[in-house]
Amino acid sequence: MKNIILFGPPGSGKGTQAIKLAVKYNLLHISTGDMFREEIKNETPLGNKAREYMDKGELVPDEITIGMLKKRVDSSQNCSGIIFDGFPRTEAQAEALDTMLRESGNPIKALILLDVDDEEIVQRILKRAETSGRPDDSNEEIIRNRIEVFNSETAPVFSHYNNKGLAKKIKGVGSIEDIFRRLSVVMDEL
Ligand code: AMP
Repeated sequence: MKNIILFGPPGSGKGTQAIKLAVKYNLLHISTGDMFREEIKNETPLGNKAREYMDKGELVPDEITIGMLKKRVDSSQNCSGIIFDGFPRTEAQAEALDTMLRESGNPIKALILLDVDDEEIVQRILKRAETSGRPDDSNEEIIRNRIEVFNSETAPVFSHYNNKGLAKKIKGVGSIEDIFRRLSVVMDEL
């Protein structure tokens, strides 16, 4: 059972790599960003609430995010492992995740950080905006706010798992295949 957190700033390639890792290692891919976008598309009350924050590049409040995530994890009891993409993003979310997984007896095996510098991220997200259709990708001010939020609210999650000896870091620049090879080396050692 490999429960893994794929971690990194917005635009670091988490989504792309998580999909590939899920296939190679037979993991369930859970992306809270994708879940919120699905709720928005379906115009649910949760989606309408989440949109208020996402459009500004802010985090959706913990109680909403943790509740949604817990439901998904609870309904995935029989899978062979989960790759978490975009969760946890705050210390409180990390605590909640640890508690959830402790109950199921399958704690987080590793957090893997995709390390990419801020300027590269801005350029990548602006490029992605040409095809993603995401309102939070197309405005440089919102992109910079998302990076700011990552550095202030989300970066402590790295220390949370580093203190448990579970955090790994790989270089998140290069081709998709290069980065996937680096990730696979880490995964194979777990
Ligand atoms: P992402 O697709 O992971 O880049 O997420 C897009 C947006 O969804 C973020 O900028 C947040 O507004 C929201 N979001 C996704 N995951 C979380 C989370 N774990 N906690 C709070 N907000 C989140």
